[in-house]
Amino acid sequence: MRTDLAVLGAGPAGLAAALAADARGLRVTLVDSAAEAGGQFYRQPAAALRASRPQALHHQWPTWRRLRDGLAASGVVFLTDHHVWCVERKSAGFTVHALLGPEQEEPVSVHADAVLLATGGYERVLPFPGWTLPGVVTAGGAQAMLKGGLVVPGRRAVVAGTGPLLLPVATGLAAAGVEVAALVEAADPGRLARYGPALAAKLPEGAGYAARLLRHRVRLHTRHTVVRAHGEDRLTGVTVAALDADGRVRPGTERHIPCDTLAVGHGMLPHTDLAESLGCRLDGPTVAVDDEQRTDVPGVWAAGESTGIGGAALALAEGHIAGVSAAARLRGTAPEPAAAALKSLSRLRSSAAALDAAYPPPAHWADQVTDDTVVCRCEEVTAGAVRGAVEELGAGDLRTVKLLTRAGMGWCQGRVCGPAVAGLTGCEPTPSRRPFARPVPLGVLARAGEGD
Ligand SMILES: Cc1cc2nc3c(=O)[nH]c(=O)nc-3n(C[C@H](O)[C@H](O)[C@H](O)COP(=O)(O)OP(=O)(O)OC[C@H]3O[C@@H](n4cnc5c(N)ncnc54)[C@H](O)[C@@H]3O)c2cc1C
Repeated sequence: MRTDLAVLGAGPAGLAAALAADARGLRVTLVDSAAEAGGQFYRQPAAALRASRPQALHHQWPTWRRLRDGLAASGVVFLTDHHVWCVERKSAGFTVHALLGPEQEEPVSVHADAVLLATGGYERVLPFPGWTLPGVVTAGGAQAMLKGGLVVPGRRAVVAGTGPLLLPVATGLAAAGVEVAALVEAADPGRLARYGPALAAKLPEGAGYAARLLRHRVRLHTRHTVVRAHGEDRLTGVTVAALDADGRVRPGTERHIPCDTLAVGHGMLPHTDLAESLGCRLDGPTVAVDDEQRTDVPGVWAAGESTGIGGAALALAEGHIAGVSAAARLRGTAPEPAAAALKSLSRLRSSAAALDAAYPPPAHWADQVTDDTVVCRCEEVTAGAVRGAVEELGAGDLRTVKLLTRAGMGWCQGRVCGPAVAGLTGCEPTPSRRPFARPVPLGVLARAGEGD
């Protein structure tokens, strides 16, 4: 298949980009691993569930309707269930390699003059004793079960960790009939006040969540953390404790909360695999872009959470700017002036930066991780082994820790355990340099070389 622009990811950023480029005359192919468009924020229930009121689980439904209807009326070719594992640079353009369907064994290629990366982000999960028990899920995972599967993860939940995502998760679960025993937020509300001006636009949204928490009688514990999840073969409760100003657990403040579900998350990280394998420059953990959302690799744009965690509104604005730029640049012209869009972008970015600074993971979270806690779930590597790699075997960087322990060598390739291993060892997080964004069957790799 040939196209002018391959947009990878059909969340808010990818949808806005695809529609902007299509409206300006490009042939656009939109590729996503999910069965429906929408990404994380507008995740839709599976069609077979025949949800009668899907909007009940969503904010900003009119925006979603506009995107959905725009896509249906556009010339965009939308490929669902396509898992992109690599984008290859060719002498002219790019080849997008994907695997089809849930089995992810059948290869498909899309040849494009340019690519736009809109692959979003994923949750940062930090380990603690008991976190591998059935009943412990990520906050976004609980949200995905609710929005995508119309199911709740349990009857009595604690929502914990840090970050603004905990609010929609707690209120969403409560509205769906789950008894939310507590919302345990590590951040200090005083920090939020410090970023007042940058967060002013978020106040109405925050007030709305506060009202919903009150209505559902959800107890909010700020500057608290979960120190242990309890249970034999599934979760029966958690111990939470207060944090001091330095982010250390205050001894004597522990309390037990019975629950069958713990939805836990510590903020989000951008997906950068495809950008990294294309050789795009990163700025810290995010893909670096200019004010047209161009990366430093000619013909590659990036938008949405892969360029920085900032919420759906920012992803939409960046996607639009990227789509407009790609349409113009592929025709050899400059994009139409977008002063208003750039102004709103800069406002949204400063409020995203303020949120990021206001919700750091607790500084001393690693103190709570006992040596027998599994850190890398794929390879079943404990915190003790990871610490031993540094303290006894002399590892001084993450790659050596990985080679000595196998932490990060499994199915997820360190996406889940990477931040935890960095935090436990004190090693500097480094780019992953994964050649592939997904596990790929050897037969597919062998055939990919044929005819080239
Ligand atoms: C689990 C989770 C739950 C969230 N819930 C909320 C919420 O309730 N409220 C809120 O305000 N914000 C939420 N967020 C944040 C929200 O996702 C973003 O603000 C917004 O959706 C970002 O839009 P995006 O287009 O950049 O990325 P996304 O919406 O994440 O879209 C990225 C798309 O790329 C696709 N993709 C990624 N990699 C590949 C690949 N290799 N091949 C093919 N397709 C790929 C994904 O399937 C996805 O559809 C959540 C984030 C996560 C990770």
